Amino acid sequence: MTLAAPRPDRALTPPERHELPPARTWSLADLYPSDDAWRAAKAALVAALPEAEHGRGTLADSPQALRAALDALMALHRELLRLHSYASMRSDEDLRLSAPLAMKQEIALVANDLAARSAWLEPEILAMTRSTVEAHVAAEPGLAVYRHYLDDLLRRQAHTGSAEAERILADAGLMADGPVAIHELLVDADLPRPEVTLSTGETVALDPSSFARWRGVPDRDDRRRVFEAYFGRLHEFRRTLGATLDANVKRDVFFARARRYGSALERALDGFAIPVTVYEGLVAQANAHLGTFHRYLELRRRILGLEQLHAHDLYAALLPEVELRFTVEEAERHVLASCAPLGADYQAVVARAFAERWIDFLPAAGKRSGAYSNGVAYDVHPYILMNFNGKYDDVSTLAHELGHTLHSYLSNRDQPFATSRYSIFVAEVASTFNEALLLDHMLATHDEPKVRLSLLGNFLEGIKGTVFRQTQFAEFELEIHRAVERGEALTGDSLDALYLAIARRYYGHEAGVCVVDDVMRAEWSFVPHFYYDFYVYQYATAFTASSALAERVLAGDGEARQSYLELLSAGGSDYPIELLRRAGVDLTTPEPFAATMRRAERVMDEIEGLLAGSAR
Ligand SMILES: [Zn+2]
Repeated sequence: MTLAAPRPDRALTPPERHELPPARTWSLADLYPSDDAWRAAKAALVAALPEAEHGRGTLADSPQALRAALDALMALHRELLRLHSYASMRSDEDLRLSAPLAMKQEIALVANDLAARSAWLEPEILAMTRSTVEAHVAAEPGLAVYRHYLDDLLRRQAHTGSAEAERILADAGLMADGPVAIHELLVDADLPRPEVTLSTGETVALDPSSFARWRGVPDRDDRRRVFEAYFGRLHEFRRTLGATLDANVKRDVFFARARRYGSALERALDGFAIPVTVYEGLVAQANAHLGTFHRYLELRRRILGLEQLHAHDLYAALLPEVELRFTVEEAERHVLASCAPLGADYQAVVARAFAERWIDFLPAAGKRSGAYSNGVAYDVHPYILMNFNGKYDDVSTLAHELGHTLHSYLSNRDQPFATSRYSIFVAEVASTFNEALLLDHMLATHDEPKVRLSLLGNFLEGIKGTVFRQTQFAEFELEIHRAVERGEALTGDSLDALYLAIARRYYGHEAGVCVVDDVMRAEWSFVPHFYYDFYVYQYATAFTASSALAERVLAGDGEARQSYLELLSAGGSDYPIELLRRAGVDLTTPEPFAATMRRAERVMDEIEGLLAGSAR
């Protein structure tokens, strides 16, 4: 690792794929040796699709028929997922190429065909009584692997209507994506982009992505102007944007009522059987710990050297004079060492990921941006795509994606296919857990004050962005749904007022911790997540769950390590809250949040000590 003066991100032309060192690219040959082999496997799957219709009309009478139907469907899905992984990752290597894109489209058609041919199955099971299903499972040992799947399905009986009602609901689904599509087109494309001239003389046009880039510029007047220009423009369109969000919330309320749920929140959380108290508890906990958040904001003000913190100062780099740089080899070494608390077996799989080309590390022309782990091919190891640029964030991304990869690897190894796939609710625990391990390792091996400040600051930025900001969003989302459920109308103006009130409470506006200027009231209107049906709270719960778990594992608690590894091997064999409870973290209690806050307080103690030291 080196300490370098930060450089502006220049738009360097990335190399073509064939110019990359092969050892730093992934080897998709483990999925299929060639595109031709993929085509042959696809043809075999297409020929086997009629098997999805076996047993139709006979499931209630025969446990063996139920088992045969489920086995056939799972086998088809298993192959479909492998085919899909290959096509989508081939396409992500170079999005400019049409051949891999065509493969992706071909496999999407096969997936549609399989869905249509197997559409009879779940309604036929739902039409059976719970006692019939349970008798089938008792009579046919081969059904044991489907016990959780069947239980999960039967939970839906209470929320399933007559054939006629289901047909109408399916047709209503055609209208359901209207608001999100309109919002995306308006905000990303049609909204006239305001222009701002910065102190450097450069004029920039603002849309969601350029705003995200420019809102953190070092010059304070510049970033204030960026906020005023972009949010000012959004504010001019608040009536339209308000009507769009109102329509989306009404959609959620409509489906919740049609499916006989008590609220839109209840329906959204029922997918993973998450109790509403987990969501409400998160909001209550964040509000109860605003003092910790305000302590950090005050520290941020001090580090930035400002008289008064404003909302437009929240994205400026905390320590612009420090930038840690890493090579891929250094990143691998740090990440591998950081996994030591999880044991030698875990580390051995991480070493395989590096040695056996599971990872596509480097940026290349036409390659998909960002990072992901793809572990859906049950019979093959997972893969990682990333765009490594040598920053600490990139090392942290490697640790994060390896968390997903090891989760997939262990679940695929230890679960039958039917229960191998984990939910998003647990997924982000496994990934952020490894970010916590990495941070701990870096702190244990670096004592230069500037480096420690940078690492600790990075952790607190995570608390700000992942715990408090996402919970602030979650609270706003809850309030707008409750308003519509009470029969109130949402307008641009009422959304402005509600958003500003919540933001001012979170950032301590009244107490002068951080001034949230009037212009911030428009922020709700460009956030796409408010159209995702109660999604963002999971970022916060995953963060608090993983920090509570990591804290115990890092303290050397062998039992905690064992139960955490069992979570990673458990796939989707039970409901997420139950799996996490068994791993040692109970999200129905305030403890995980409180543990995360205790850690944040200790980190701030150290930062204050470092700052006092450097002032001497
Ligand atoms: Zn992730």
